[in-house]
Amino acid sequence: MSETESLTHVLSVAVPRPLEGLFTYRVPPDLLSRIEVGGWVKVPFGRAVTHAFVVEAPKPLSEAPPDLPRESLKAILEVGEQGAVLPADVLSLCRWAHDYYFAPLGEVLNCAAPAAALGLRSAGKKARALPPPLERRQVHELTVAQREALECLERVRTSQAPLKAALLHGVTGSGKTEIYIELARRALDEGKGVILLVPEIALTSQLHRRFEEGLGVPVGLWHSAVADGKRRDLSAALGSGELRVIVGARSAVFAPVRDLGLLVIDEEHDPTYKQEDRFRYHARDLAVVRAKLSGACVVLGSATPSLETRERVREGRYAIARLPERIAPGGLPGIELVDLREEEKVEGTQAVFARKTIQAIQDTVAAGEQAMIFLNRRGFANFLLCKDCGEVSGCPNCSISLTVHRRQTELRCHVCGHLERIPDSCPKCQSAELLPMGAGTESLEEELPKLVPGLRTLRLDRDQVTSATRLEAVLDSFRDGKADVLLGTQMLVKGHDFPNVTLVVVVLADALFRWPDFRAPERACQVLKQVAGRAGRGERPGRVLIQTYDPDHPVLQVVRGTMAEEPFLEGERELRQALHYPPFGRMARLRFERDSQAEAKGHSEAIAKGLMAEGSIEVLGPSEAFLERAKGIYRWDLLLKAREVQHLQRAILKARELAARQRWHFLVDVDPYGVG
Ligand code: ADP
Ligand code: ZN
Ligand code: ZN
Repeated sequence: MSETESLTHVLSVAVPRPLEGLFTYRVPPDLLSRIEVGGWVKVPFGRAVTHAFVVEAPKPLSEAPPDLPRESLKAILEVGEQGAVLPADVLSLCRWAHDYYFAPLGEVLNCAAPAAALGLRSAGKKARALPPPLERRQVHELTVAQREALECLERVRTSQAPLKAALLHGVTGSGKTEIYIELARRALDEGKGVILLVPEIALTSQLHRRFEEGLGVPVGLWHSAVADGKRRDLSAALGSGELRVIVGARSAVFAPVRDLGLLVIDEEHDPTYKQEDRFRYHARDLAVVRAKLSGACVVLGSATPSLETRERVREGRYAIARLPERIAPGGLPGIELVDLREEEKVEGTQAVFARKTIQAIQDTVAAGEQAMIFLNRRGFANFLLCKDCGEVSGCPNCSISLTVHRRQTELRCHVCGHLERIPDSCPKCQSAELLPMGAGTESLEEELPKLVPGLRTLRLDRDQVTSATRLEAVLDSFRDGKADVLLGTQMLVKGHDFPNVTLVVVVLADALFRWPDFRAPERACQVLKQVAGRAGRGERPGRVLIQTYDPDHPVLQVVRGTMAEEPFLEGERELRQALHYPPFGRMARLRFERDSQAEAKGHSEAIAKGLMAEGSIEVLGPSEAFLERAKGIYRWDLLLKAREVQHLQRAILKARELAARQRWHFLVDVDPYGVG
């Protein structure tokens, strides 16, 4: 029998590549019965062999499109293990994300079920993914406020509403985590599965421990740093029902948890839920969609909810439960602004720490307590400036300045990784007067012990902490009191719980609200409140010092409590409403990346022109991206704004159609962040 004679069925699959559309293969008869929707197969692809996702049932040849080149179809090589990989709700979620975010289905699926989770990469030994079950510990008796919040969320969870969603708005340290645990326990008792999303890998292990202890069942850790073999074992354990609870970062929204009953998104406002490369999605938004698709309840927790989520509450689409008080007796820490303009200049440059700040650090250490110092920047300094001609050392590939890393005596680009030695003289005017400007975590680590003799410091930033284990080690030694001060970048703001920290210092708040982004004031408020929430989580009261050149800025007034938060947020809301920014309008960014500036500009201009006829949308730009040139590539952006999501989608499709005629490509980012 020839190959074509045995052709009875064809199968269209999604290939894990950034390519649109499905690819069709011939199904050998002996494999037909083993193919399941949600599973995977191995197929020849180009000159390689790849795995691919089964997203629809095999079709009898009679139903295949007539133009299918039947003779040249290649055959499926292998079918994955029995038992579908993806539960139906995850597959539906992927399809939804494919439509909404304009991401190739194969790429979305690859994010939901990376090769590692399929057990494709290595056979390896069959390790036990799960620890033996634990004795469940009743952690605390819930307070009255916690009980009320819990009952409110329980009503949502057990309701029959088509969307069971609620916001848990509780200040930091108000006992939200205990409520998540209690809700999870009730879902488990009903035989349901649970996913808890946290914004940062660094946060997962602490919460993981609390969840395991609180629930008395194994809890899987799910994030991109989990080793291949382990991930496959987790998938298998989820498939068999042996494992029913997952704690993880962003991508855990796709975890193949069966019979999902509860999804919790902790720190729902956190921008790390937005994936910024390849498949661009927002994990919080997808969590709500998954909840709807699977009938699960979704709880969004935050001390500083996003304007988007607040708006959903206002519209009555999400319920709300509140925890306005901290559990700890000390209450919220006292916040003081330190006006840097009043500080003297030392040799012409501004001192990094005001005298008041140094005094506070000394007092804290003398009392046997600890401090956290927060700076939103890495490296020794922001950039190298020539005092004589004003030249700033820039990256040859990207439109940003290079960062000085003194320890390695080098200049580094944080975008493309370009490295060079710190020059002895200015490349432009040969002056030897090159000054590092600004201050980064590395310089603080050098400076601090000079200002406060005997001070023991630890540093936490991405240069220094490159793995989750390493991060864990730094946090543990700080918790064990092996250092007086923890210095760090934004990694510090996440919800670490250090009872002995009574002082928090923000080195320069201005950088936060000076950022060119319509979300910047909201974000600055969130970050500063969260940073402040790190102080005084134990028995002793906390103190927060925020250094700034602009102490009258509304954001700082709100954080400090001299201006009410509601009118500030109301103002932000009105501004967005007037300008049709989210949550009142929908946006998408089309990014054109080209080798030449002329092409990047020209192509984006041509598409902008082609979209002019679309009445229901606004086209902004084109303009060079915030970082015009990165890794040697020029980047130009078009921003689309619409009142209704359908209008936005129609415009994106139109842009694609126009681009396809020229064989052009652009990247789509729906609901983008970082919009000026
Ligand atoms: P959040 O998640 O809102 O930041 P947590 O759940 O971490 O708050 O609670 C803050 C602190 O208070 C933790 O140390 C926690 O163990 C403790 N805590 C929470 N609920 C109670 C309670 N009902 N009684 C006593 N301590 C509690
Ligand atoms: Zn660069
Ligand atoms: Zn110079």
